[in-house]
Amino acid sequence: MADLPAAPTPTLTAIYADYEARQGDGFRDHLGASIIGKSCARALWYDFRWVTPARHSGRLQRLFETGQLEEDRLVRNLRSTGATVLEVDPDTGRQFRVEAHGGHFGGSLDGVALGLLEAPKTWHVLEFKTHSAKSFADLTAKRVALSKPQHAAQMQVYMHLTGITRAFYVAVCKNTDALHIERIEADGEIAERLLEKAGRVIFAQHPPARISEDPAWFECRFCDHHAACHEGGGAAVTCRSCLHATPVDGGWHCARHDRMLAPSEQRAACNRHLFIPDLVPGEVIDAGDDFVTYRMADGSPWVNDARTPEAASC
Ligand code: SF4
Ligand code: SF4
Repeated sequence: MADLPAAPTPTLTAIYADYEARQGDGFRDHLGASIIGKSCARALWYDFRWVTPARHSGRLQRLFETGQLEEDRLVRNLRSTGATVLEVDPDTGRQFRVEAHGGHFGGSLDGVALGLLEAPKTWHVLEFKTHSAKSFADLTAKRVALSKPQHAAQMQVYMHLTGITRAFYVAVCKNTDALHIERIEADGEIAERLLEKAGRVIFAQHPPARISEDPAWFECRFCDHHAACHEGGGAAVTCRSCLHATPVDGGWHCARHDRMLAPSEQRAACNRHLFIPDLVPGEVIDAGDDFVTYRMADGSPWVNDARTPEAASC
């Protein structure tokens, strides 16, 4: 008979609960270079528009932390080979950051290195990733561009935006602690295509096409936005899902109130919020100041109404 999983104990439950309590609201201010390699542009648009908050179990949060903790050790490992590793930008004292599209696209580098044995005179963008045994076996068999296109895309963007021509990818197998290392050459055409993709997602008024119309498609089954995309599920009420909000250079602008919106305001929304019609599973049949009326799939009308007394005082 197979062993039963260990029953949770109060301590285990409390540890996971602590991770869950600290995970934030699940919204990221910018579109991250770490996800631009996703195959579905619609999922990226939903991410950027905060349609579904990313929520993870305490166990998974702890797993993400394992990846972060590994970074210090990898830096030590590289320094032990004689390499110079910078984890922070000496000019700012913070992680090296890259940005594009008015600050709406970007990411933070794990570091940069010089003096690597493979090419001692060349600066490299560093990218550290931890892998399960299965993922690591696939990576070593196919190499990063084929096995982990999102990681390869992230490095291309970082190289392009820093002007560094090589990346150094260090992967760790979480089961065995085996390492896999690859040097990646900058490819300006790939990076430009990724930047164009980011721009299309950021400035799109409507969600891009689905990667599949079949809700059971394998990428859809594991997508955070499955309910919103395929099941008519509701989007989170924030400024990002409001038809009055537009990403502009350096932030977000609200046409309803004709002003820029701070990130905290975007999260809170106001009571003039009206959903972007693409986020409502119905057909627009009427609209006016502060309301939109839809015919829903079952034929019933639904009014997205921001003319409430509370809204009037906004
Ligand atoms: S559910 Fe599928 S089509 Fe929809 S956003 Fe996710 S991956 Fe794309
Ligand atoms: S109307 Fe309100 S919810 Fe909509 S973008 Fe402006 S501040 Fe945000």
